[in-house]
Amino acid sequence: MSQTLLLSHMYPNTPESLALANDEPWDDDMYDRAQAHLEAFYVEVFLELANYGEIEDLVVVDNLCDHMIGNVYVKYYHEEDAERALMKLTGRFYSGKLIQAEYTTVSDFREARCRAFHETRCNRGAYCNFMHIKHIPRAIKRRVVREMYDDHPEYLGQTAKKSKKDKEKDRDRDRDRRSRSRRRGKDKKEKDKDDKASMVQGRAMIASWNAEKERDGWFRHG
Ligand SMILES: [Zn+2]
Repeated sequence: MSQTLLLSHMYPNTPESLALANDEPWDDDMYDRAQAHLEAFYVEVFLELANYGEIEDLVVVDNLCDHMIGNVYVKYYHEEDAERALMKLTGRFYSGKLIQAEYTTVSDFREARCRAFHETRCNRGAYCNFMHIKHIPRAIKRRVVREMYDDHPEYLGQTAKKSKKDKEKDRDRDRDRRSRSRRRGKDKKEKDKDDKASMVQGRAMIASWNAEKERDGWFRHG
């Protein structure tokens, strides 16, 4: 048992996101398209996985090695929720691919992540064996958490008071975002503007995914 599940290769990388992960030349337009795709995926998957329990964190990795490409990790607050999610996800499809869900020993994403990638850039590139966690703007993270509690008010009682350790983690996440903004060479103000723009794009994308849902089913039993 574990609170964390690994969903192998679930994120369908786009050509833009592969180029960015590979450190190929990129421009703002490519970056925006890759981010919009990622954020739409993040929102959709977070809210679906939140139906099984209260989520502490969800990450998508940028690594390209065979065993890590497209990997998604979801950490629930409670082991029994992870267990329920594992049961429910088994045999289901996302975007036409069978979901491969399993328990993982990764329990602390901060421990498992690549420090170099997190802080600036990693010389090992996309084939590094430590987690290169894709950047999700704080505005998106706040939004999905808010929507999770709107959809499932019953979760609120369960983890009523945040522990000191969780609060420290939140602070750390703020720092994450700031350092990543620097990495992309944008100041904070500009980044906030970007966050808003990509949220709007994200919404538009979800609308188109939802239309497709009718046709081939978001989570269809196999
Ligand atoms: Zn690395």
